[in-house]
Amino acid sequence: MKPQAIVLLSGGQDSTTSLFWAKKKFKKIIAISFDYGQRHSIELSSAKKIAKLAGVMHRIFKINEYEQIKNTALVDKNISLYKKDKINKNLPSTFVPGRNILFLTIAASYAYTCGIRDIVIGVSQVDYSGYPDCRKKFIKAMERALSYGMEFKFKIHTPLINKSKKEIVLLAKKLGILNFMKWTHTCYKGISPGCGKCAACVLRAKGFKEAGMNDPQFT
Ligand code: ZN
Repeated sequence: MKPQAIVLLSGGQDSTTSLFWAKKKFKKIIAISFDYGQRHSIELSSAKKIAKLAGVMHRIFKINEYEQIKNTALVDKNISLYKKDKINKNLPSTFVPGRNILFLTIAASYAYTCGIRDIVIGVSQVDYSGYPDCRKKFIKAMERALSYGMEFKFKIHTPLINKSKKEIVLLAKKLGILNFMKWTHTCYKGISPGCGKCAACVLRAKGFKEAGMNDPQFT
């Protein structure tokens, strides 16, 4: 077992599964979350609850950048959740440009000060919304940039990178944390249980359906 890791915990299904995956690999975990003005800030309450259930230390970092830029439907409530991104029509309006670059930079900066080299992030490039910062090649590039930039060798772990939503549900089951999914938050609208219509809710429902299980958020 390795000593310590930082886990990025949004409060959603994927990061929660990654957190419990990490608990089996590392002796000590510090979970970190980001308050970036997201319209579904309710996910931060989920993150607090999940960190408590997992018995890990939890820190929330506040980022003001996106509230000033207002370039995404996840921060600006005047932008529809169902449109395309203004610049790249291949992406949805919920794309937050640079989000994982920023999150991983802050995570690594904090990890560095703690002497921690391992960082865990629950991105997947299988069933996802097309966000480029959820892909393997981005993670690899980021790992190199952070390691060079801080002259400190980081390892970014992505336990879900090649998993479909169905496989992520099955991993949660294997880890014995399916019940904890009740406390996770996914919906972009910030309502609990989810709206069932936004892209995040649709993806989550697909995973549970394909895995042949009921989503605990509705029980
Ligand atoms: Zn929703």
